[in-house]
Amino acid sequence: MQPLTLGKIHVSRVVEVEGPTSPRFLFPDLTPEDLRPYLQWLAPHFYTPADDRLRMSIHSFIVRTPHHTILVETCLGNDKKRTTPNWNMRSGPFLQDLRAAGVDPARVDFVLCTHLHVDHVGWNTRLQDGRWVPTFPNAKYVFNRTEYEFWQQAADADQAETFRDSVLPVMEAGQVLLVDGEYEIVDGVWLEPTPGHTPGHCSVHLTSSGAEGVVTGDMMHHPLQILEPERCSRFCQDVPLARRTRRAFLERYADRDVRIIGTHFFPPTIGRVVGHKDTWRLAI
Ligand SMILES: [Zn+2]
Repeated sequence: MQPLTLGKIHVSRVVEVEGPTSPRFLFPDLTPEDLRPYLQWLAPHFYTPADDRLRMSIHSFIVRTPHHTILVETCLGNDKKRTTPNWNMRSGPFLQDLRAAGVDPARVDFVLCTHLHVDHVGWNTRLQDGRWVPTFPNAKYVFNRTEYEFWQQAADADQAETFRDSVLPVMEAGQVLLVDGEYEIVDGVWLEPTPGHTPGHCSVHLTSSGAEGVVTGDMMHHPLQILEPERCSRFCQDVPLARRTRRAFLERYADRDVRIIGTHFFPPTIGRVVGHKDTWRLAI
């Protein structure tokens, strides 16, 4: 992804994992035939028909404003026990890559997670002397309150583990700010509720000097869901609400000069939503 400038806000990306994945991981009943009408819009960046693979990414965005460094999404993390094999006990170079991008973890001011799923909270913490400690010791971690309270009660063992190793330690360190509804973090950067995928899911709206962008979060995982707003991933908590939210989002931003910055979109990662037949598509 090319770094993006929106007025005085700069956005760049640090990748933890990217590459081809089976379409069935997210969309269990998605067939190559379902994708055929969209090849012109999805291939080669987001889908490769030759091997029937979606191309996707797990990454963080570094958002720099004139006075603050903000990290949006914290991916999977290292040393964490997970049931998805590729995500289990990772030892990737994410922190080195973050430093190479010019970010000292001690100088991150805010950490934003669009929601508290496993691939969005991992680097909130790191293992130090057998304990999970905040990776960003001077940051405020901003979470939506509904989201936090929902996962605090998580019955699912995997989710409970994620909450214990990646969310609770930052709360216990006194670094969490729980917020409700629309919430402006610093000038021009605010959380915009986009619930459905999870109960308190938020997208991150960026605006400066008339330029605008939105980090999607998992309100959509893949540009296919712009062409087919009804298509939900198997990880969506409330399917009817996720559909309504996605449609409203697309109606709100279609045919406007607003950059859609995809949390799991493979490069170029950023595009604009434009009308296409009776739905929309991502123009890159
Ligand atoms: Zn995700």
